[in-house]
Amino acid sequence: MSIEKLMEFVIPVTESGCWLWIGEMQDDRDHINVEAAQVRIDRLSWEAHYGSIPNGLGVCHKCNVGCCINPNHLFLQDNRRP
Ligand SMILES: [Zn+2]
Repeated sequence: MSIEKLMEFVIPVTESGCWLWIGEMQDDRDHINVEAAQVRIDRLSWEAHYGSIPNGLGVCHKCNVGCCINPNHLFLQDNRRP
């Protein structure tokens, strides 16, 4: 998914800088159905801006807003660490 497409479904919040995802969701507010695959929207945003995510890493939010996809608010964390 392109950044342009992502941004069509985003509401920017001036105060916090968050980009709230308002696109189509499945199950809960963190998921989107893309090409029949369930992909976390924050992972899509990261990949659209920074490229692919190494195996074992997950995308986390500095702002603790689950539906925020501002790449400046995202960081990668090793999920395998206890
Ligand atoms: Zn945010």
